[in-house]
Amino acid sequence: AQACTNWPRQDNLAVMRPPDISGPTYNYWLNTSTEPNENRAALMLGRGNFRVATSRGHLTDMVDLPANSSLMVVLDHGLRAIPVLGPALEWPPTEPWPPAGRSPLLVTQDQLIYRMPTRNPEYQLVLVTPRTNMQREMFEGWWWLLPSSLALAIFIGGLASQLAGQRQSLGAELQGALRRGELQVLYQPIFDLRTRQCVGAEALLRWRRPDGTLTSPELFIPMAENTGQIRPITDFVLQRLLEQLGHLLRANPQLYISVNLAACDVMVPRIGKVMARLLALHRVAARQIAFEVTERGLIDVVVARHNLQALRDVGHQVLIDDFGTGYCSLAYLQTLPVDYLKIDKAFIDALGHDAASSGVAPHIIRMAHALELKVIAEGIEFEDQALLLSSEGVRFGQGWLFAHALSAVQFIDLITRGRRLGPRRLDDEV
Ligand code: C2E
Ligand code: CA
Ligand code: CA
Repeated sequence: AQACTNWPRQDNLAVMRPPDISGPTYNYWLNTSTEPNENRAALMLGRGNFRVATSRGHLTDMVDLPANSSLMVVLDHGLRAIPVLGPALEWPPTEPWPPAGRSPLLVTQDQLIYRMPTRNPEYQLVLVTPRTNMQREMFEGWWWLLPSSLALAIFIGGLASQLAGQRQSLGAELQGALRRGELQVLYQPIFDLRTRQCVGAEALLRWRRPDGTLTSPELFIPMAENTGQIRPITDFVLQRLLEQLGHLLRANPQLYISVNLAACDVMVPRIGKVMARLLALHRVAARQIAFEVTERGLIDVVVARHNLQALRDVGHQVLIDDFGTGYCSLAYLQTLPVDYLKIDKAFIDALGHDAASSGVAPHIIRMAHALELKVIAEGIEFEDQALLLSSEGVRFGQGWLFAHALSAVQFIDLITRGRRLGPRRLDDEV
């Protein structure tokens, strides 16, 4: 066995016991110590033969626990608790565990128990602190802090509930928006940069409220991802796209539509099933629907690879969106089942109006080609950019130079007019 570490002592690398949490991709070991300076791992992450460890210092820098308090990760539906910081305490701290009631703070005879909400039902974070300790400290000269800390707490609490309220109201509104048909799907045409023929389009969402205001997907998509509302939204896009363009796709078997997937759409095999049902219903070939996945959707590589491969196996194309803005390296991408790489608009912007200053885009393109990945450029606004990209071997592109996002009717019109771009630039639907 070989170890590579930046620690002077390496004994902490040897994990002998089985992991505390085994995930589909990673294993986790949680370690504890009461010694503040002991150079032991607080958290160790493992995959295959590899382990990454954090030093306790990282945690203790941020969390200053009162004496005899303990921060614990609770597993197995409350049966097991592993202390992350502080000593191991008797578990469970109350009978029954989990306690009845939903209040996160529990006050027992001698302890304060705070259950931190986590999004994952598999584990919980629990902070246990002795009650007497806190109270004693408070009366030993710190009592005067009470009024000001109360005021601060009320202020922070108010702020938090206001933020939560805002978020909830946008979330509730979005729910209604979907029902009332305020969400629309537009299609931004994608062109062959050499022939200037339209080869397909990217489906892009719009939220048009009754008063006419337009909410950007960049605002409501991330929120919908957090609240879980993204699933019905993704389903809506797929359904709407086949309703609107099913006929066009059947009549033009070379044409394809590209759909943006959220990170959580990639983590479950659901999309494949939803899609298969719709494709059968509208008699459209799977190869006419492509899926765009951002690098954020690839955090759990094993799961993502499996689900993307399943999509490709039935004939869909898969492409990496916003390439270059995340953490993926090209070499890592090569191991993923993808067909295309979509270079983010930021790199196309850097190409400038004049081809003289070209930034990193040409390098990305060459490397992508070396890895046998096809490239699409997004956000092309100037003819010089299109020419340069084309000369670098980029086959496809989209951007305001060619067309804005169009309504279904406008897009159908573009295709049936002969797929050639007229002298007039196509404009966004009004
Ligand atoms: P994206 O996938 O990177 O989409 C490209 C964005 O760039 C779109 O913004 C498009 O309208 C815009 N764009 C295209 N060409 C040009 C150009 O030449 N110049 C400039 N300045 N912009 C251009 P949009 O439609 O506002 O979408 C923003 C983001 O919202 C998308 O980024 C995508 O991440 C997300 N999104 C949109 N629709 C959906 C959807 O149906 N599902 C999911 N999950 N995300 C979506
Ligand atoms: Ca996209
Ligand atoms: Ca982008």
